[in-house]
Amino acid sequence: MKALALFSGGLDSTLAMKLIKDQGIEVIAIHIKTGFGSINDRMEHMQNMCKQIGVKLEVLDVRDDYLKEVLFEPKYGYGKHFNPCIDCHGFMFKATSKLLKKYNASFMISGEVLGQRPMSQNKDSLEKVKKISLNEDLILRPLSAKLLEITKVESKGWVDREKLLDISGRNRSVQFEMAKKIGLVDFEPPAGGCLLTQPQFGNKMKDFIKYDKMQVQDIDTLKTGRHLRLPDGAKFIIGRDESDNQKIEKIINDKYLKVLTLDAIGPTALLDKTASQKDKELAVSFIISYAKTEANKEYDVDFGDFKMSGVKLESRDIVKKYLIQ
Ligand code: SF4
Repeated sequence: MKALALFSGGLDSTLAMKLIKDQGIEVIAIHIKTGFGSINDRMEHMQNMCKQIGVKLEVLDVRDDYLKEVLFEPKYGYGKHFNPCIDCHGFMFKATSKLLKKYNASFMISGEVLGQRPMSQNKDSLEKVKKISLNEDLILRPLSAKLLEITKVESKGWVDREKLLDISGRNRSVQFEMAKKIGLVDFEPPAGGCLLTQPQFGNKMKDFIKYDKMQVQDIDTLKTGRHLRLPDGAKFIIGRDESDNQKIEKIINDKYLKVLTLDAIGPTALLDKTASQKDKELAVSFIISYAKTEANKEYDVDFGDFKMSGVKLESRDIVKKYLIQ
């Protein structure tokens, strides 16, 4: 008997896998990469969690399908921000179910806990998630199983329902107790890192879709730097610190020009290739203002294909007007 687990990297999905593994069932952790899971790469963390409970980790990159099928027209709507949690979970199960044959696995599990999240983990939502998954019979939620309808996985005796749990709600004391008992260390604090649940990121998303159609290459671009929408509609992104500058440096996105100050140490920035002359001039004065520059002195700015020059703003307060936050 083998099971595939939806694995976010969090404590709940790790414990759900451990519960099933302890029943002598082989578990493979499937991390579904939507692109919005977190700002930083969590691969090392996820590998560490899987290693501690002796489970193999696989990553399924669904970014393209996620943009096409889930993010912009979720059947069950959004949570508080840009998070289409019900559709998202259903999609994750659907994507994982396509791997059942490949791994010769019989069912799927997740770390969902009844009542833990108001929108996506009440009884009604868990049923909706099952419906979207197209494989509702094969979904087991080990942490809350005893509070839910008996599943095929249990009625067929593939797992022992008695050894599953009845956790509900937001209090995570049972999970922390379990983690302690099995000696699990370095797990992340609750709340998760999904960017779609964060208000500021949601605002960037809402702004983006007013002007552009999102592609996979835009996801990492949205995660980095200070984002501005200039008066004629161009997007301008300026690195806030060295780490941002390095990330922006590595971004490959053919919609943008890389912008750098010449003759002065300054941030790395990106500007829409289609920016108007007015927006370009503004971008020049903004980047000079965020660089180590002097007032009333002209500096050159490199756009890759061409150069422009400008001077520092009297005050950076002007920038605030264009910030997406
Ligand atoms: S929190 Fe993010 S990853 Fe999790 S279900 Fe909601 S949208 Fe999907």
